[in-house]
Amino acid sequence: MKNISNPRVRIAPSPTGMVHLGTLRTILYNYLFAKHHNGKFIIRVEDTDRTRLVPGAIENLLEALEWADIKTDEGPYLTSDKKIKQKGETGPYIQSERLDIYKQHIDDLLDKGKAYYCFCDKSRINELREQQVKDKLPPKYDGKCKDLTKEEIKALIDSGAQYVIRFKMPDNKDVIVNDLIRGEIVVNTKDLDDYVLIKSDGFPTYHFASVVDDHLMKITHVMRGDEWIASTPKHVLLYEAFSWQAPEFAHLPAILNKNKKKMSKRDGDSSVSDFVNKGYLKDALLNFISLLGWNAGTDQEIYTLRELEKQFSLDNIHKAGAVFDTDKLDWINGQYIRELSIDEFFDYCLPYLEKDGIMKQTGEDLYLIKTKETLKPTYVKNILKLEQTRIKKFSEIGEAIEFFFADDLDYDIEKLVWKKSTKEETIENLKKLEELLKKTKDELFTEEKLESSIKELMEQSSIDTGSLLWPMRFALSGRERSPGPFELAAALGKEKCLKRIGNAVAKML
Ligand code: GLU
Repeated sequence: MKNISNPRVRIAPSPTGMVHLGTLRTILYNYLFAKHHNGKFIIRVEDTDRTRLVPGAIENLLEALEWADIKTDEGPYLTSDKKIKQKGETGPYIQSERLDIYKQHIDDLLDKGKAYYCFCDKSRINELREQQVKDKLPPKYDGKCKDLTKEEIKALIDSGAQYVIRFKMPDNKDVIVNDLIRGEIVVNTKDLDDYVLIKSDGFPTYHFASVVDDHLMKITHVMRGDEWIASTPKHVLLYEAFSWQAPEFAHLPAILNKNKKKMSKRDGDSSVSDFVNKGYLKDALLNFISLLGWNAGTDQEIYTLRELEKQFSLDNIHKAGAVFDTDKLDWINGQYIRELSIDEFFDYCLPYLEKDGIMKQTGEDLYLIKTKETLKPTYVKNILKLEQTRIKKFSEIGEAIEFFFADDLDYDIEKLVWKKSTKEETIENLKKLEELLKKTKDELFTEEKLESSIKELMEQSSIDTGSLLWPMRFALSGRERSPGPFELAAALGKEKCLKRIGNAVAKML
């Protein structure tokens, strides 16, 4: 790839709803590219399709950028009181505030004879389409208004007729797009339509506004999703019509679901906030998204944003679609969860524990929601610690720890018996354990101390490991899978351990 210095890149979202993961990837790649090459990252809001605007969508997008800690150099931003302001010298950066700029540029194209007024109404266009579909022809405007005279145009406008302005497509000309990821793409103008530049509501179309803005905002590289690839020849022709130098183009691979189909909103949960709500950490999500279509060519999978800034390059973006692998996301998230301090982990878990009706913190007080029993944060943290190495996302924490706080565990007593043991033996072993735990002083109720005293008991009484540790772990957790017996016992504390073991014995008798 050519030497790239001080590029200017942009993301140009339309404020039509929630921020989706695909948008976040486009944001991230543009940002990383700008950072890597010491360039500028610009945000421009494309709000010219007035029928699709969603109130609050710009704020939502700017909040997502703030959340991701991705700083823009130019464009709209949110003030601390959540007002939208703009910074930068090539603005305004919200397209609906640039109408006079588009007007000036469309007049220029009209003067040059590269665009024309079209007064065909919707019903004529629809009939034309229907006929073309019947005749198995690609839908295309037939050029009826292409050769109207100046006088005819003026008379129609004066009469109040509605119009659009169309691009005058050159005849039979090969348009070449040199995509930095896809290579050369050639399209003949025969296959392109006299597409609309200015709509009947006076607003520019996406094609027109984005080309004018990319030029005026001095964008050097346009990096966007591959759904825009078919539009790019139209854009290249517009640059030519204006005698402007086109930017470089790089179309990012599609994001695919596990059936290798393009991921869509129908796959559910594709908005960034859905993932955040499920308990994925920001850094893990960014890390995962960075790998959706790019890798550094090494085995490294865990990257900080700073590392990505250093290593990211367009050379390593794949052409093929990137499969969204939730297991990999979970694995990456798990890695980040392990790195949190216990206090951070506790803070992240609390809202999920409250949502699941388990515990709540009000001011300094932490208590169980069902019984109002107060809890010591250190006690809860000791329990949480056991799951910090096990859960993949915070939404799993409630399910993972609820058994610690249950009054009585509900389980099938058969399961207390280790497969190579008997019920009688299990009762006997649990009773011995109960005796030992009763004698254990509170300060010796730690994982290490319990491990050594229980192992000693097993040795002295010639009990094999499974016959004691399995029922012990099961009696304490009521689950086939749980943290180990010693750590479990230490986290539960003496009183609860004795109660649970006593209950298990009683259930079996
Ligand atoms: N407004 C388009 C979008 O919503 C921008 C496409 C582009 O980057 O040119 O994705």
